[in-house]
Amino acid sequence: MTDATYDAIVVGGGPAGATAAADLARSGHSVVLLDRDGRIKPCGGAIPPRLVRDFDIPDSQIVARIRSARMVSPRDVQVDMPIDGGFVGMVDREHFDEWLRARAAQLGAERRTGSFERVEHDADGVAAVVFRDRDGAAHRVRARVVVGADGARSTVARQCVKGADRVPYVFAYHEIVSAPAHARDVLGRLFEPGRCDIFYQGRLSPDFYGWVFPHGDTVSVGSGSAKKGFSIRGSVTALRAASGLADAPTIRREGAPIPMKPMRRWDNGRDVVLAGDAAGVVAPASGEGIYYAMECGRLAAQAVEKFVATGDARVLREPRRRFMKAHGTVFLVLGVMQWFWYGTDKRRESFVALCRDPDIQKMTWDSYMNKKITRKKPAAQVKIFFKDLAHLCGFATP
Ligand SMILES: Cc1cc2nc3c(=O)[nH]c(=O)nc-3n(C[C@H](O)[C@H](O)[C@H](O)COP(=O)(O)OP(=O)(O)OC[C@H]3O[C@@H](n4cnc5c(N)ncnc54)[C@H](O)[C@@H]3O)c2cc1C
Repeated sequence: MTDATYDAIVVGGGPAGATAAADLARSGHSVVLLDRDGRIKPCGGAIPPRLVRDFDIPDSQIVARIRSARMVSPRDVQVDMPIDGGFVGMVDREHFDEWLRARAAQLGAERRTGSFERVEHDADGVAAVVFRDRDGAAHRVRARVVVGADGARSTVARQCVKGADRVPYVFAYHEIVSAPAHARDVLGRLFEPGRCDIFYQGRLSPDFYGWVFPHGDTVSVGSGSAKKGFSIRGSVTALRAASGLADAPTIRREGAPIPMKPMRRWDNGRDVVLAGDAAGVVAPASGEGIYYAMECGRLAAQAVEKFVATGDARVLREPRRRFMKAHGTVFLVLGVMQWFWYGTDKRRESFVALCRDPDIQKMTWDSYMNKKITRKKPAAQVKIFFKDLAHLCGFATP
């Protein structure tokens, strides 16, 4: 074998893979970043300030700053949740992902364009990734570790890690439309470029939610559902009409699955570790995945560094353990929340009513912004708990 052996090959150049490759290159490791390229990831593009801080995202990537969210109930009751002193950033994945990949390359990662086919092992036990370039020619890259960051329904995961076929998904679809100068919804209210609208209405999604996310010059209007036979396109058409965006020129229509449960194993016990959507990591209830993908990419890079230094494959288990320690409780709470509050229109009505509570608003935004459940105000948390309980038991009316 005369081919060079890299420390790692990262399959997939989305937020997870590009972060893993950048971190590995920064710490002086030899790394190939393989991406098939040519498709913009369908995504609402909402990111928290913690992501901007932790991953040094420049202002130029933030196309809009959202200062408030409007929750809309089945009966069209609207509750505004202003963000006190912060914002939700919006990125356009077309530019954001390419910027992340270019940064990884600047730091020293070798970029390759092609479609992953399989992992093989050479006679000396080292892994080799086989991929095809745009002309159909096959290539091989030998590496001590393969990072599978090829997104939802990951081929790397399905080939190399048990349980990949059991990940539950929501299918999400959105339409990117031109932002209107003036648009009024069905109730005559104006579209606001600094506000996200989130629709909890069974007719728009029986088990998830519909959204209108402003992106400066454009707007993402979307919905998701895991229910087979539910027309998400029909839902987005209705959402556009309800938001006064029916006649806004459509720029793109696109959809993709969102995984709803982290896999039980993210590694193969030998030389493969998964990150991001490939590992099933997206927050239930919200569908937020960009921050978590980048966090997974970072943890995977740290595990690869340890593996390269020690040769001990047990370190490849660490990304999952560390991630679940940091975020497992939030994922559990959000999973229960989705299961319960998104179940019927009656519960959705109660859920939107709960969002009126200033303590709930503060806790929601603090948790979203900082990716930690804040424990600063125990009295408020007790109040929230009892309010929740009252709604759960049906003692409270919306
Ligand atoms: C409609 C929709 C809206 C969403 N809105 C939001 C939102 O507002 N905020 C948020 O935080 N999250 C959102 N998400 C989730 C978020 O997009 C994902 O969680 C996130 O992109 C995961 O990043 P990743 O790097 O793991 O995977 P991806 O972003 O999917 O990246 C995977 C990469 O792998 C490459 N790849 C795939 N297969 C191969 C192959 N065989 N060979 C080579 N390369 C390959 C792809 O080209 C891609 O670049 C949304 C998802 C959807 C579908």
